[in-house]
Amino acid sequence: MIEKRQFYVNGRWVAPQDGSDCNVIDPSTEEVCAVISLGGQADTDAAVRAARDAGCSWAQTEKTERVALLERILEVYKRRAPEMAEAISLEMGAPIDLAKTAQVGAGAGHIKNFITALKDFSFDRPLGAHAPSDRILMDPVGVVGMITPWNWPMNQVTLKVIPALATGCTMVLKPSEIAPLSSLLFAEILHEAGVPAGVFNLVNGDGAGVGTQLSGHPDIDMISFTGSARAGVAISKNAADTLKRVHLELGGKGANIIFADADEKAVKRGALHCFNNSGQSCNAPTRMLVSRDIYDAAVETAVEVAEGLKIGAAHEEGRHMGPVVSAAQFDKVQGLIEKGIAEGARLAAGGPGRPEGFNRGYFVRPTVFADVNNDMTIAREEIFGPVLSILPFDTEAEAIRIANDTEYGLTNYVQSQDGARRNRVARQLRSGMVEMNGQPRGAGSPFGGIKRSGNGREGGVWGLEEFCEVKAVSGWAPDQD
Ligand code: NAD
Repeated sequence: MIEKRQFYVNGRWVAPQDGSDCNVIDPSTEEVCAVISLGGQADTDAAVRAARDAGCSWAQTEKTERVALLERILEVYKRRAPEMAEAISLEMGAPIDLAKTAQVGAGAGHIKNFITALKDFSFDRPLGAHAPSDRILMDPVGVVGMITPWNWPMNQVTLKVIPALATGCTMVLKPSEIAPLSSLLFAEILHEAGVPAGVFNLVNGDGAGVGTQLSGHPDIDMISFTGSARAGVAISKNAADTLKRVHLELGGKGANIIFADADEKAVKRGALHCFNNSGQSCNAPTRMLVSRDIYDAAVETAVEVAEGLKIGAAHEEGRHMGPVVSAAQFDKVQGLIEKGIAEGARLAAGGPGRPEGFNRGYFVRPTVFADVNNDMTIAREEIFGPVLSILPFDTEAEAIRIANDTEYGLTNYVQSQDGARRNRVARQLRSGMVEMNGQPRGAGSPFGGIKRSGNGREGGVWGLEEFCEVKAVSGWAPDQD
C-alpha cells in the first residue's frame, strides 16, 4: 500500500505537525490503496509562512527566468507522464488510457499554453498616448491558497499553479483529499524542475480543516477554488472577513441544443461527451435539447451509445467507462436516477444499480432519460455521473429559454449547419463558454462560468491576469527601466 503522509513545505518533505490519517480508496475495488495525512492549523500556518517568506524574491524574478522554469516543469512533467497517469487512474478511477491521454494531456497542454501566453504577456503597460508618464503595472497578487477537486486533477492543478508561478505569486495547494496522489507527484515534479523553496507548498487536508484554514487565513491574499457551488459559497463567506480575492470555478448543467439541421454525428458526439470521465466533468453537456423534428431518432441514437459503452476497471487498457469516484458519489447518482424515474422522466437506457457483471466498485449504468422537462430534479441539479437527460423543443426561442433556465452558466453547446443561427444563439446563451458543432475551443481560450458556475477565468492571458493586481502609476519616467 502507498504511504504518503508527508507534506511539501518550504522546499522539503515534512512530517505533519497536526495530522490524522486518511485512506484513499480505489473506486474500482472499494479497497484502500493509499494513506495520506490530513493536516491541521499548524501545518497550514507553516506552509503559508513559507509562501509569504518566499514571496518578495520570487515576485522580483525576471520573466525569462519564469519562462525557463515553466519549460523545465513541462519537460519533467512529460517524462513522468506514465507515473502521473497511474496515480490519476488509481485515485479517481479514470480508465488508464483516458488517464494517459486526456487527463495527463490536459496538464501538459495547459503548461505549454501558459508558456506561450507568458512570453507575450506584458507586466508593464502604457495607459495610452494621451498619458505618456502613466504606467499600468501587473503585480503578482501575493500568496494564493489553491483548493482543487478530484475529477480532472492535473487539469485543475496546472490551471492554478502554473499561472501563479508565471506571474510571480507564491502558493499553498490543498488538493482533494479523495484524489491527492497526483498532486503529491506534481510536487515532486516541481521540486525536480527547481521551483525555489517556499514558492510552492502542498498540505493535504479536507474542506472543514485545511480548506477552511486557507480561506480564512489573514496571510493569504487570494483563494483560487475549483469544486462544488456548495463549497464555493462556504469559502466566499469564510474569506469575507479578510477581504481576500476569491476566484471560483464551480459546477455546470450544460445544454446541448441540437437543431434539425445538425450534422449526423451530433447526437452521438453529445452523448459520448456526457458519459466521458463517467460523467464527472463540470462542462458535461447533460441536458440534450433536441428539435422535435428529429427527437425520436435522437433518443434512439443516445440509447445506442449508452448501451454500446463498455464498462471496466480503471487499470484495464482500452476504451471503456470506469467507475465514479466514491461511495458518496455513487449514492448521489443512484438517488438522482431514482428521482428521475419518480418524477416521471422516461427511462430509455440504464437505470439504478450496478451494470451487469459488477457487484463491487462504484460502477454506474450509463443512463438516458427521455421526455425530461426542465423543472425535473435531473434537469436542474448537477448529477456528476453518466446520466443524460433529453428534452424536446419546438422553436429556437424555446431552446434558448430552456438552456438559460438554470442556476448554472458554464458551457453550452449548439449543433446546426446554419452559421447565422449558430452565432445568433451563441450571443443569447448565458454562459462563460459556448462550443459549437463539436469544435473544441482553441489553445489559450479562457475557461470559466457565470452565475452558480463561478466568476473566474482560467487559461491563456485571462488566466494570467487572474493572478495579478493592476497597479496604476503616474509620473513614470518613460526613458528609465
Ligand atoms: P467539493 O466542493 O466537495 O470539493 C472540492 C475541494 O474543496 C476539495 O479539495 C475539498 O476538500 C474542498 N472543500 C470542500 N468543502 C470546503 C470548504 N467548506 N472550505 C474549503 N474547502 C472545501 O467538490 P468535489 O466533489 O471535489 O468536485 C466536484 C465539483 O467540482 C462539481 O460540482 C464540479 O462541477 C466542480 N468542478 C468545477 C470545475 C470548473 O472549472 N468549473 C472543474 C471541475 C469540477
